[in-house]
Amino acid sequence: MSKAAQPHAHASVEEIIHPHESMLADTPDQAAGPGYHGSKAEALAALREPGVRCCRCDLCATRTQVVFGEGSPTATLLIIGEAPGEGEDKSGHPFYGKAGQMLNSLLEEAGIRRDEVWITNTVKCRPTRVQGRRVSNRAPLVPEVKACTIWRAGELDIIKPQIVCCLGAVAARVIMGRDVKMTVERGQWLPFPLPIEGMEKSEVVVTYHPSYIMRQEGEALERIRGQSAADFGAIAARLSAGG
Ligand code: URA
Repeated sequence: MSKAAQPHAHASVEEIIHPHESMLADTPDQAAGPGYHGSKAEALAALREPGVRCCRCDLCATRTQVVFGEGSPTATLLIIGEAPGEGEDKSGHPFYGKAGQMLNSLLEEAGIRRDEVWITNTVKCRPTRVQGRRVSNRAPLVPEVKACTIWRAGELDIIKPQIVCCLGAVAARVIMGRDVKMTVERGQWLPFPLPIEGMEKSEVVVTYHPSYIMRQEGEALERIRGQSAADFGAIAARLSAGG
């Protein structure tokens, strides 16, 4: 089996030197091909196919695998985090590790089913920092976020969610295209800023990143988690009110 055909492989040198045609595409529909114009499930599958072989930035050399978004193609809520961490890189699923458990508990408390939501990240590959033998997570760099825009824009364009929930300031900045101060804008309903057809009435809400919540202790942990739980409660209410 060629390396390109293996589901969990690093990009091969061949793929990096001679990228597949879809890697040179400018738009999600060019990358996905004819499947983009099928049902939402078909379009996401068509986008995922080149997405999981992506070599648009250097992260393809260090990742275990691409962590593409997952969930319901007909979701009315799209949740976007920062970037896959170690657990996600190993499993191939977004919000799979400890941060995922925190997210799951917030969703459950709000009565939102995880399998009815689309969950993704600003970049689909784990950004790492290597210090000696220690490999740790880092925030994605601007060129990495830009290189991943084609997949992120495709997910939004296909799903056209009523609500985009940004987990943390990095996701909020990427979606809003400007600086976002958590202290000022957390929990506010913001107009979705991108010119995606069918999302003219969509809204963005920013809440704390689950990893940030988990770094808190004592009273701060209770307070910050409580605020995030309230944000998810407000999202659930907005979803049941319809759009
Ligand atoms: N943190 C993120 O931002 N995304 C994940 O998928 C996991 C942890």
